[in-house]
Amino acid sequence: MRPPAPSLAVVGCIGLLSIGHTKQRYKTRDAMRRITVRLLTAAILCLVVAASTRLLFDHLSPRDVALMPRDGATEVYPELPIAIEFSRAMMPETIGAAAIVLRDDAGTEVPAAIVSDVGGRSVRLTPRAPLRPGAAYRIAVGAASTPASTLGLTLRAPAEGRFTVAAAPVLPDEPEAPVLVAVGAKNPLGAYYAEILRAEGLNLFAVVAPQSLTPERLARASLVLMTEAPDGALAERLSDWVEAGGNLIAIRPEGAWLPLFGLAPAGEPLAERYLQADGEAPAARGIAREAMQIHGPASRYALEDATALARLSDGTEPLPWPAIALRRAGQGQAAAFAFDLATSVVRLRQGNPAFAGQERDGLPPRRPNDLFFPDYLDLSRVAIPQADEQQRLLANLIVTMSAGRLPLPRIWYLPEERRAAIILAGDDHATRHGTLNAYKRLVAESPADCRPEIRDRDPSGRDASGRDSSGRDSSGRDSSGPDSWDCPRATSYITPGTPLPAEQAQAYAALGFETAAHVDTGCRDVDGAALGLALSRQAGEVAARLGLPAQTTHRLHCIAWNGWADTAKIERAAGIRLDLGYYYWPGSWIRRRPGFMTGSGFPMRFADLDGRVLDIYQAASHLVNENGIEQRRGIEVMLDRALGPEQFFGAFGSHYDYSDGYFDHLVSAARERGVALISAAQMLRWLDRREATRFEALAWNGHDLTFRVRLDPGPERVTGMLPVSVVSHRLAAITRGGHRVPFRVETIKGLDYAMFDLESGPYAVLYDEKTSAMPLPARLR
Ligand SMILES: [Zn+2]
Repeated sequence: MRPPAPSLAVVGCIGLLSIGHTKQRYKTRDAMRRITVRLLTAAILCLVVAASTRLLFDHLSPRDVALMPRDGATEVYPELPIAIEFSRAMMPETIGAAAIVLRDDAGTEVPAAIVSDVGGRSVRLTPRAPLRPGAAYRIAVGAASTPASTLGLTLRAPAEGRFTVAAAPVLPDEPEAPVLVAVGAKNPLGAYYAEILRAEGLNLFAVVAPQSLTPERLARASLVLMTEAPDGALAERLSDWVEAGGNLIAIRPEGAWLPLFGLAPAGEPLAERYLQADGEAPAARGIAREAMQIHGPASRYALEDATALARLSDGTEPLPWPAIALRRAGQGQAAAFAFDLATSVVRLRQGNPAFAGQERDGLPPRRPNDLFFPDYLDLSRVAIPQADEQQRLLANLIVTMSAGRLPLPRIWYLPEERRAAIILAGDDHATRHGTLNAYKRLVAESPADCRPEIRDRDPSGRDASGRDSSGRDSSGRDSSGPDSWDCPRATSYITPGTPLPAEQAQAYAALGFETAAHVDTGCRDVDGAALGLALSRQAGEVAARLGLPAQTTHRLHCIAWNGWADTAKIERAAGIRLDLGYYYWPGSWIRRRPGFMTGSGFPMRFADLDGRVLDIYQAASHLVNENGIEQRRGIEVMLDRALGPEQFFGAFGSHYDYSDGYFDHLVSAARERGVALISAAQMLRWLDRREATRFEALAWNGHDLTFRVRLDPGPERVTGMLPVSVVSHRLAAITRGGHRVPFRVETIKGLDYAMFDLESGPYAVLYDEKTSAMPLPARLR
């Protein structure tokens, strides 16, 4: 039903009211004037009535629909629900297959079952056949027949949404890469090793299928990481390659292959033990000394002719079996992990898959901490970033093993060689001024060159220092632009009811502040479709109201969590690429121990249950105002361990809700230590930039290393790292395009690196005989 046409209604209304007047006889001009006035009054009255009716109809008619996946979504994982939500309760018979159609990109209808919920507010589409990876689809609502509400009012306009299903994962092969990560079908988490190497700044690798490890390919490689047991022929080929000088790291080798690693079988595997790094081995000496949890099975080996870099442990005492062993074999080296590092890292980060969907701590809704509760995370080790330390052992092993054949450059974790940053993120539950006051304070605390007065721009849009709204000066340089980590910035996730004027939100967005929706599902456990629809609707509303682009980061209200990685996948379908939901809480569980619930200080991509690496980052909320840890001390402990000798580096996620002094503690603790305060979106942009920065065309002749750098452009310095010691040589000079590049030597997790600024261009690095005396300036920060 449509509201009656307003013009007709108004004419009719005036006509009716006028009839009464024409019956009266007016003989004077005064009376005529009175008739005119009355006619005019009637007209105005009728117009007001018509407008109000129109408004009422508008208010009651179904205005819009929310779509899951969101219109324009990419990387939609095929198993996700497809759902539509109306703004009014609808007549079920009008929201069936005639009104809602799913089509592929060619326009062909995709058969789907359509079921509406009891209230008639939403429908769910289940395609009768799986959607094709990489293919685009359209959902059309109201194209052929129009959905109508229970009041009989029709949907105002047809709606359409387009989305693209995630393509099947591809192996990012690079023919010249010196490190080969062999991933087959036997280890579902094999592909996660690529994520580990990227996180460790070791991006000179290719992911290849085991059958691609031909003798020709091996001849060009410096190191192979074999993520699963190879078949007999490949095992033999790899053994020959190692004897001839290759470097091999194998995950849980077995059978006839074991002698290559200097190991012998020693019984059935163990489960859920610990790893204790050996303080003497070069690759292990900078790693935390306490025994660390490893998740997943660990093979039991007897050491025959190998050195243990780490031993298995029961948590307090070392066990007789190695966790990581290294053997010099012929001209090469062979190292074995007794456990699957990827499984251990993923479970340390994301929790126990067996707990997925369980309410374990008795505090509904289900949250990420339920995946660890009560002792999947050994809280006596929570001070250690256990996942980071374990993967740094692998990184150290790769760098030290490869050194003789090829020194491998790395990229430092954070911009400007920083060791710590705080992702400043508040949840604004409709406070009056919380978000704006926080933004104002950070602008006031900013160094002068990142403090353009947002109200005082001249008509050209430039501020007093000549920078435009993106922070670029007239030469286009953006050293203090919104992305600069020298300018304290923050994220505020706001509920739809938070009163924030659009012009203020936009002005602060131009300065690098991130305002985005804090999606509210009522603090309840809701299914994936309901979560997806809430994300799509609320994030869309906040962006539309504030005039901001679609958000890319998020933390859900009440930190509810679905399944294992379900929330992450649903967020990805709403365009989110970084989630802060892994929240260190509740106080009754953690009992005032600052630390790493996810075993990590850094965002890394989520892994799904089947091992698929999801294109959305897990950034933990380490620093939480409401978890019972003494607020100021908790922040300081984490920052000091990142900056101090522990080297527990991190970009620490935070949570405050403008209800207490936690924001002030975060800001002052960070500023006292020179630690960057950044928004979540800034972190994401850095992760993308770091990943896009590449080393290419490495060549090594025993004392000269040459390579090209392709630096992804951005405002911050990106730091390269080169091992200082390479067999009998020591790094003496770095040049780019013939010009000397200054470097500093830092010991990072037990290994010495030359740290230098990366620029695009050709580099040459000279390694001298170790006997040559060379003063190396060391600098601590
Ligand atoms: Zn909240």
